[in-house]
Amino acid sequence: MNKKVDYIIVGQGIAGSILALTLLKKGKSVIVIDDAKLNTASKIAAGLYNPVVFKRLVKSWLADNLLPYMNEFYPEMEKLLGAEFYFSKRILKPFAEEQEKVLWLKKTEEGIGKYLNETIYTGDLNGIVFNPLGISEVLHAGNLDTISFLNSCKEYLKKKNLFIEEQFDYSQISMTKNSVSYKDISADKIIFCEGYKATENPFLKWLPFKLTKGETLTIKLTHDCAIPFRIVLNKAVFILPIGNDLYKVGATYEWEDLSEKITEKGKSELIDKLQKVLKVPFEIINHQAGVRPTVNDRRPLIGLHPEHPQLAVFNGMGTKGVMLAPFFANQFANFLETATPLDKEVDIARFYS
Ligand SMILES: Cc1cc2nc3c(=O)[nH]c(=O)nc-3n(C[C@H](O)[C@H](O)[C@H](O)COP(=O)(O)OP(=O)(O)OC[C@H]3O[C@@H](n4cnc5c(N)ncnc54)[C@H](O)[C@@H]3O)c2cc1C
Repeated sequence: MNKKVDYIIVGQGIAGSILALTLLKKGKSVIVIDDAKLNTASKIAAGLYNPVVFKRLVKSWLADNLLPYMNEFYPEMEKLLGAEFYFSKRILKPFAEEQEKVLWLKKTEEGIGKYLNETIYTGDLNGIVFNPLGISEVLHAGNLDTISFLNSCKEYLKKKNLFIEEQFDYSQISMTKNSVSYKDISADKIIFCEGYKATENPFLKWLPFKLTKGETLTIKLTHDCAIPFRIVLNKAVFILPIGNDLYKVGATYEWEDLSEKITEKGKSELIDKLQKVLKVPFEIINHQAGVRPTVNDRRPLIGLHPEHPQLAVFNGMGTKGVMLAPFFANQFANFLETATPLDKEVDIARFYS
């Protein structure tokens, strides 16, 4: 049976899910195609959102625009999908050296100050954390429980008959001047949201991805103690409480080995860093790896294919899919429907040559 929709979306990671929900919200029709077997970044991400880049202690790119947008988007989606997945959290940062603390206090008086608590806490969080130099706190941070979000989104799409679970077969695309079809579904456009797998898409091989693999651990504290659910610790690694006395720990950054396989190297790097933060013993429950769709110039890849405008891409969310995707999905939907220009920094037209 032939079916006609406005958009076929390939990929139901954070990017594809958020774009599909955004287009539906604007009254458009979509079909989402996803290969559930793949081990993806969205499934293993901690889902943290943090307006501060710790390395240089600067504001994260567009934080002032992205945060207000996502603070409306995710709660609205929690209502629509009937699930809880968006949590505000205190990101606590134990200082590693004295200069770090001096810089922090200086920065509280600058533009980034609204995201930095100026109080320095002493104490060791009920005997859990090494904290000789004090801890401070990032304000307006939190996390998306990506598994709960992706699962509830998939259920919602399935109920509405808008979801196909299969590996997308690029050889089944056929194009006319103004439309495109995939098998028996025709659409105005196909929007590719395949994360790092876009590097295997014959239409997108020219995009300058510079992929980054990441590994995470799930641990249990074996001492009789707990880090409260609303707190994330961050010192070289993040430690995120995920409930049931479990914590997600990560992440590594690797640019050479881009397989989805876990490694001993990744595991020992994380254990080593954990032992410098935690005073208490822990048990490793799980170990995962995924590949981030990072880009040469660290900006998303959004827009139309230069030769086939029936094909589009919404990708390149890099290390910050949770913050970037809602704002840019809205911008992209407006671009597709009303030709409102895309931000030049994210438009793939910057690579057309
Ligand atoms: C270890 C780690 C930790 C991270 N932590 C954070 C964090 O704390 N905060 C944050 O914001 N970001 C984090 N990220 C980054 C975040 O995960 C990414 O920005 C985001 O997941 C990218 O989403 P995506 O949908 O573009 O890609 P993906 O998650 O890769 O999803 C792509 C989807 O497309 C599907 N697909 C691909 N090819 C095909 C095909 N041919 N046919 C059908 N389906 C296909 C896949 O099955 C998948 O569902 C982390 C990433 C890693 C690896």
